[in-house]
Amino acid sequence: MAVLPSSARVVIIGGGISGCSVAYHLAKLGWTDIVLLERKKLTSGTTWHAAGLVGQLRASQNMTRLAKYSADLYRTLEAETGLATGLRQCGSITVALSAERQEELRRQAAMARVFGVEVNELSPSDILSLYPHLNMKDVVSGVHLPGDGQADPGNIALALAKGARMLGAQIVEGVIVNEVTQADGRVTGVTWQQGEETGTIATGHVVNCGGMWGRDLAARNGVTLPLHACEHFYIVTESIPGLAQLPVLRVPDECAYYKEDAGKILLGAFEPKAKPWGMNGIPADFCFDQLPEDFDHFEPILEAAVNRMPILAEAGIHTFFNGPESFTPDDRYYLGEAPELTGYWVAAGYNSIGIVSSGGAGMALAQWMNDGEPPFDLWEVDIRRAQPFQKNRRYLQERVTETLGLLYADHFPYRQMATSRGIRRSPLHEHLKARGAVFGEVAGWERANWFADEGQTAQYEYTWGRPNWFQNSRAEHMALRETVGLLDMTSFGKIRVEGRDALIFLQRMCANQMDVAIGRIVYTQMLNERGGIECDLTVTRMSETAFFLVVPGATLQRDLAWLRRHLGDEFVVITDVTAAEAVLPLMGPNARDLLSAISPADLSNDVHPFGTAREIEVGMTLARAHRVTYVGELGWELYIPTDQAAHVFEALVAAGADHGLKLCGLHAMDSCRIEKGYRHFGHDITDEDHVLEAGLGFAVKTDKGTFIGREAVLRKRENGLARRMLQFRLTDPEPLLFHNEPILRDGVIVGYLTSGNYGHALCGAVGLGYVPCRHAGETVKEMLTSTYQIDVAGRMVGAEASLSPLYDPKSQRIRV
Ligand SMILES: Cc1cc2nc3c(=O)[nH]c(=O)nc-3n(C[C@H](O)[C@H](O)[C@H](O)COP(=O)(O)OP(=O)(O)OC[C@H]3O[C@@H](n4cnc5c(N)ncnc54)[C@H](O)[C@@H]3O)c2cc1C
Repeated sequence: MAVLPSSARVVIIGGGISGCSVAYHLAKLGWTDIVLLERKKLTSGTTWHAAGLVGQLRASQNMTRLAKYSADLYRTLEAETGLATGLRQCGSITVALSAERQEELRRQAAMARVFGVEVNELSPSDILSLYPHLNMKDVVSGVHLPGDGQADPGNIALALAKGARMLGAQIVEGVIVNEVTQADGRVTGVTWQQGEETGTIATGHVVNCGGMWGRDLAARNGVTLPLHACEHFYIVTESIPGLAQLPVLRVPDECAYYKEDAGKILLGAFEPKAKPWGMNGIPADFCFDQLPEDFDHFEPILEAAVNRMPILAEAGIHTFFNGPESFTPDDRYYLGEAPELTGYWVAAGYNSIGIVSSGGAGMALAQWMNDGEPPFDLWEVDIRRAQPFQKNRRYLQERVTETLGLLYADHFPYRQMATSRGIRRSPLHEHLKARGAVFGEVAGWERANWFADEGQTAQYEYTWGRPNWFQNSRAEHMALRETVGLLDMTSFGKIRVEGRDALIFLQRMCANQMDVAIGRIVYTQMLNERGGIECDLTVTRMSETAFFLVVPGATLQRDLAWLRRHLGDEFVVITDVTAAEAVLPLMGPNARDLLSAISPADLSNDVHPFGTAREIEVGMTLARAHRVTYVGELGWELYIPTDQAAHVFEALVAAGADHGLKLCGLHAMDSCRIEKGYRHFGHDITDEDHVLEAGLGFAVKTDKGTFIGREAVLRKRENGLARRMLQFRLTDPEPLLFHNEPILRDGVIVGYLTSGNYGHALCGAVGLGYVPCRHAGETVKEMLTSTYQIDVAGRMVGAEASLSPLYDPKSQRIRV
């Protein structure tokens, strides 16, 4: 029996690779009194049976950065700890069996170039020379990442644990954490059980690294950790005579990966419809366990594999392996502090990439815990993106049947989830559906992305080329520009901040001036101490003591957490009122005429100027009309009590025919906002992007007094910008941009697009992206004298660059 301390600085729950990595990295940062508790044996959950692929290229720069960090760490751990991780840098090949997959691989190769990952594009004969055992039928092309590798997952975890112990961490097996205790919204400790013995450890920090057990453990404290286990399969062949060392091979079109190890082939599957597991909880005695074979389930993959690699037909199967792994609703893992409980940290839900991810994730989380803020933008994997409803196990069970397979499915742009849909709906959902809306999902919200014409099938046909909705979206875009469009943005997060000290509080939180007249709408950012953007929002002053905040639907939980975390002694109440109102943006040159047709209100510039909100009569009810825009046109966002939204919608649609009204979707909104250079949180602006470099200095008022981030703004003003966000328009009207395409300045890669879409009014694809300054104080003029190109799947396309938006640079259309 190990002797456990009565208190610790941190208790890490779970001794898989995730927990071991967090312990190692906290110890590296000099943390002492670290305790890691593992209910059975280290690695006995999912870690021990992973295939051990270590691929570095991920979907974004920062995720790639973390994966690369892992690979580098696993390479050096042996020298540090004396335990070999088995890392072998054998490279990896991914092959395309279709033109669409080829386009995806080419776009990935372009991303690899910008993220600093070595990549070679391969012809079929190149592939054959690197992987001679392949049947090349249908193989179109491939990519080779020479830096990728494979390793021994169990040994990596044990080496991390040993490294942590060498630095003083206490790692104890056979101790289960039964409960995390809490008081006043903070973690206070854990209760544990070791055999018959029980006890407590007082601590201010726990880290839930409980893998597939993590969700239910978190739920006991009201913490949302939406993940669900799935069965995950591979086979290992008997030794195949003459099999030389081979790179890892991925054939995503056949849902398969191949790993050569000691003359055997491990063939793993990411089948399109996975099997959820552990619906009634994960068994308490699970330890190095396997799940029953399911040959029927694996057979289609094996059949395709035998065709792809005919030597498999001769090889006997040594092992049929089925092990559980946790998957999340969006195929991304969770890191960070739970918004529900201070001191409750999470590193779990790895979607079958926990080995390659955990090194970097442990480093990032440890840094985050140490500094109180993430080392760089981690929004993609931030636990604050989880929605409370996602605790629902039926929702999770259905969703993970899809997310496992999506890892190898075509990653088409605008691809939508097919499962667990329809959870959050606007009151206008059925109205929009009846008019041809095709929905996409964000944070559980169903949102009309585009509208099918009569007779057209209302569904996506995915492609890398011009999609089936291109012309629909173009018509919507041009209606917003030339007549009038109606959107449904009920998914906006809506927060009321009210109370005696609401103004003082918001002045501290926001970079813009909040002390404005009642009815004024202020566009602002909440900054962190580095001047990075934590939240992008509008704030409307409703009264002396009440403010109404509008934030993106996807960031609501994060924004609520940020506000609540910073609430000190101020007398302020923060309430999520998202579900109380529907939001109907009516935008376009005819918006005033159309709204006037159903409202007696004076909508003139004098009475209702840009940046103000007023209650108006609409139809036979009332709406609060906010004169703002996210598409860059004259217009009003109508905030309507949910129960009256359909009435207002019907009144607008009935009157709309005379004014060229068109229902518009989110794709048109996105293309309009990029034309206008409006930033989007999570893409163009994140907590790592300085507000001045993001070009949002106009919304920062340093002379108003102190606010979070003010010092960083003053410093940046003094030292000069290191980079600027520019807008780009491709000079060739044909290619499409989605984001992540490399930006070349005078022939050299300098960055990548953070947003991209088609600018129908500008007659070409448009994007936004940061360009580093060549020297301190480089002027905009100097930057713009360069020649710019965008790498679109390997094709260099000329681009016009601009600091101010190419569409309506002086914003005259908004104020007409
Ligand atoms: C077949 C298969 C192949 C895979 N291949 C790869 C691959 O090639 N590359 C890759 O990167 N990833 C791969 N993975 C994924 C990888 O194995 C996982 O993502 C990773 O192991 C997850 O690590 P973890 O630490 O989060 O979870 P686990 O390893 O499950 O660790 C969680 C630990 O927490 C402990 N625990 C839970 N609750 C408590 C409690 N209350 N008190 C104390 N202890 C507790 C458990 O006992 C367990 O040991 C694969 C997975 C499978 C199933």
